[in-house]
Amino acid sequence: MTNQHPNQNSKPNANRRIAIIGGGPGGLTLALILQRHGIESVIYEREPVESNRDHGGSLDIHEDSGQLALKEAGLLEAFQAIARYEGEDFLLVDKNGTTYRKEVAEGDKKGDRPEIDRGSLCELLLSDLDPSRIRYGFKLIEAISLEDGRHELRFENGHIDTVDLVVGADGAFSRIRSLLTESAIEYSGLSMVELNVEDAAKIYPDLYAYNGRGKMFALSDNKAILAQLNGDGRIKVYLSFRADRDWLDTNGIPLDQPAEAKRMLLNYFDDWDDKLKNYIRYAGDRIIPRRIYMLPVGLTWTSRQGITLIGDAAHLMSPFAGEGVNLAMLDASELALSLVRNEDLCEAVREYEKKMYGYSSQSAKDSDENLKLIFGDNAAEKLNELFDRLQQHA
Ligand SMILES: Cc1cc2nc3c(=O)[nH]c(=O)nc-3n(C[C@H](O)[C@H](O)[C@H](O)COP(=O)(O)OP(=O)(O)OC[C@H]3O[C@@H](n4cnc5c(N)ncnc54)[C@H](O)[C@@H]3O)c2cc1C
Repeated sequence: MTNQHPNQNSKPNANRRIAIIGGGPGGLTLALILQRHGIESVIYEREPVESNRDHGGSLDIHEDSGQLALKEAGLLEAFQAIARYEGEDFLLVDKNGTTYRKEVAEGDKKGDRPEIDRGSLCELLLSDLDPSRIRYGFKLIEAISLEDGRHELRFENGHIDTVDLVVGADGAFSRIRSLLTESAIEYSGLSMVELNVEDAAKIYPDLYAYNGRGKMFALSDNKAILAQLNGDGRIKVYLSFRADRDWLDTNGIPLDQPAEAKRMLLNYFDDWDDKLKNYIRYAGDRIIPRRIYMLPVGLTWTSRQGITLIGDAAHLMSPFAGEGVNLAMLDASELALSLVRNEDLCEAVREYEKKMYGYSSQSAKDSDENLKLIFGDNAAEKLNELFDRLQQHA
């Protein structure tokens, strides 16, 4: 059973053809809230079914954004039942292992930023979505603006659809964005190597005890070891470097030869505390390179009929405000509710975009400033001071 409101045909926009490109957290939330309000939509997702399971690590879902969207989607209680409140544990150290901050989530006290794995979040959203509203294996190749304001969508598998509204929820490398703005994603100056320590509590109890049930940030020398315990028991580790854009291709680290790759990666952290080096030593064989990209801070565009963007497609930022998924879901909620309120499609999109620019530009600015702080001098000390200031103003 899906949680649909009655009288769907009397709702504004109930009979428009709306296509959402991308079935990540943003696209799924949008389709689900539209469904609740009796508005038809279809998600086109390029990946095959069940592909969301292992896409990315643990995400903290904020009370004033991601959780608001889950409430609109009718899933807040179901989320609260599976969210990891203990995942708010946080340890901040420098390369010597000196502790600057240690936060331990208390017993049954529920914080406002509980964690959930990306795969579990997508499964939760999918659990209430009418399966006919998502089509897997449909990779958008091109969207073409038609004279009457509609858009023709062309897919790799030959499928063509013509829609009244296309929403680009297709992430960092959006194929919809270029119809709205000439701005493109830029390399942020940060590259990461992702490692995974499997079943940490059982196999590496020393590292599990050190890491705690949430996140560990070790910051020094314009580098970082960032770690987070995931719901499936693994510790996801991001070795993070300020580096030229081509560094991941030219550093000579053979990612397909894990033992040698880990030996070379350890060299970058040669004078770091032994406990921190264990994040590399204990890691499994799957090593994933990641360049971090961003859109210009405060990006806006001239609103156009029949097309808009949500989530990373609209405002990709580095992960250092911890807002990416939260904004994607908030955008989804704001756009859906605007479509419910406004009979006029153009007005609905304009109203959403205006609101979205306001909150997303602030997060993009914070994220950019945090990146500079975390990879600058005396980073652990400065990040601790920033958290103190934020707590005082909370
Ligand atoms: C290393 C790292 C760590 C992060 N940590 C955090 C964090 O701690 N907290 C946080 O809030 N955020 C974090 N983020 C960011 C967060 O993952 C994203 O902001 C969030 O997933 C954006 O959701 P979205 O739905 O907009 O896009 P995505 O999650 O990128 O989903 C886009 C979807 O579109 C599909 N798609 C793409 N192209 C096409 C196409 N041509 N046709 C059809 N489908 C297509 C993709 O397959 C995908 O399913 C992190 C990101 C990275 C890289």
